Amino acid sequence: MKANCWYDQYDVRVEDVPDPKILDPRDAVVKITSTAICGSDLHLYDGYIPTMEKGDILGHEFMGEVVETGPQVKNLKRGDRVVVPFPISCGDCFFCKRQLFSLCENSNPNAAVAEKLWGHSPCGIFGYSHSLGGYAGGQAQYARVPFADVGPMKIENDLPDEQVLFLSDILPTGYMAAENCNIEPGDTVAVWGCGPVGQFAIKSAYLLGAERVIAIDRFPERLRMASEKAGAETINYEETSTLKTLNEMTGGRGPDSCIDAVGMEAHSCGIVGIYDRVKQATMSETERPQALREAILACRKGGTVSVPGVYGGLADKIPLGAIVNKALTVKSGQTHVHRYMRPLLERIEKGEIDPSFVITHTMSLDDAPKGYEIFQKKQDECIKIVLKPWANGLLEHDAKNGA
Ligand code: NAD
Ligand code: ZN
Ligand code: ZN
Repeated sequence: MKANCWYDQYDVRVEDVPDPKILDPRDAVVKITSTAICGSDLHLYDGYIPTMEKGDILGHEFMGEVVETGPQVKNLKRGDRVVVPFPISCGDCFFCKRQLFSLCENSNPNAAVAEKLWGHSPCGIFGYSHSLGGYAGGQAQYARVPFADVGPMKIENDLPDEQVLFLSDILPTGYMAAENCNIEPGDTVAVWGCGPVGQFAIKSAYLLGAERVIAIDRFPERLRMASEKAGAETINYEETSTLKTLNEMTGGRGPDSCIDAVGMEAHSCGIVGIYDRVKQATMSETERPQALREAILACRKGGTVSVPGVYGGLADKIPLGAIVNKALTVKSGQTHVHRYMRPLLERIEKGEIDPSFVITHTMSLDDAPKGYEIFQKKQDECIKIVLKPWANGLLEHDAKNGA
């Protein structure tokens, strides 16, 4: 089969690789009809996540058709259409029983590596380094799905892939980020980052009762989408001071909750940006946490800072004093996708949200290297790319549906 493989920083290649096979009685093999490139994939592409090996198959947002099931998978059969959640979770352990699926303790065979970094290991994740299990990902024509009796959700309506694909990750991620804010009626929520996760965090904050959502980014097309499609007020942080503007917009009090939907590769202007880049280059800091710093400083006293943005290691100059002295709550996590898939599918079916609005590009899997490049460089107003593994290069890489 064809798969998009990681080779090095800024080097991914579509190659012929062996088809996946059932290895465990709880596995299924899925023929992938649609897959996507995530902001999290950029952390791999940009070389910030250790324990990647040459030839690793990327991708953790995918859906398709079941072609084979192991003998213990009773809930699925050949031909079923499924969306696959990115965390690999057993369904039976201490954490899965508490619906904390991304913390599953039975799905990362390389837990020891993650334990050295973080004390304990999260779950295994498709296509996301050997420290998170070394699983082959879903930017491919087929994928082996472990614990297929627990993860994949059957789609029994005729909604197109584009409307349900993002149940695999970014829609639940935006939703959990907003849910973690414990939004109360009348609340103002600020969201750093207007990538796909930020867009869904904005939408979800409104679904959960926020009165105002203020979104922060610097790319006009992303700010436009946040405003026109997700309904946020916007701040372009290159044109104005985010902290000052947020204070002015909230009568000096600050937003009730602040969501960092940027993560470890934040862009920043001025001295602090240079500081982070130098420290990151010399490996004395693994992150550039500028959005997180601002979210903490901006948040009102007693408020919540919610962090869906991915961080991998150690960050510098985090204003801990503000967390303590403003009595802030900080919540984060890889998303417990399984627990949100069905309720969010119902919201899509009812027409409360149509997640396909974030898609700007549809490309053939063959064009994945080009896709990574334009997504990483934010070229061609690219916000979200869907890859079609069976399109044989027929799709034009710029088949935009218009943001
Ligand atoms: P993306 O790269 O498309 O979007 C990031 C956005 O942040 C960009 O629009 C960028 O311009 C903006 N940004 C950069 N620096 C900023 C700053 N200082 N202030 C404000 N905005 C800034 O990525 P995405 O797909 O939307 O993902 C966002 C984050 O969420 C990534 O870190 C990704 O790894 C993470 N993520 C987490 C989970 C999870 O389970 N927790 C799941 C999916 C994605
Ligand atoms: Zn993702
Ligand atoms: Zn488990």
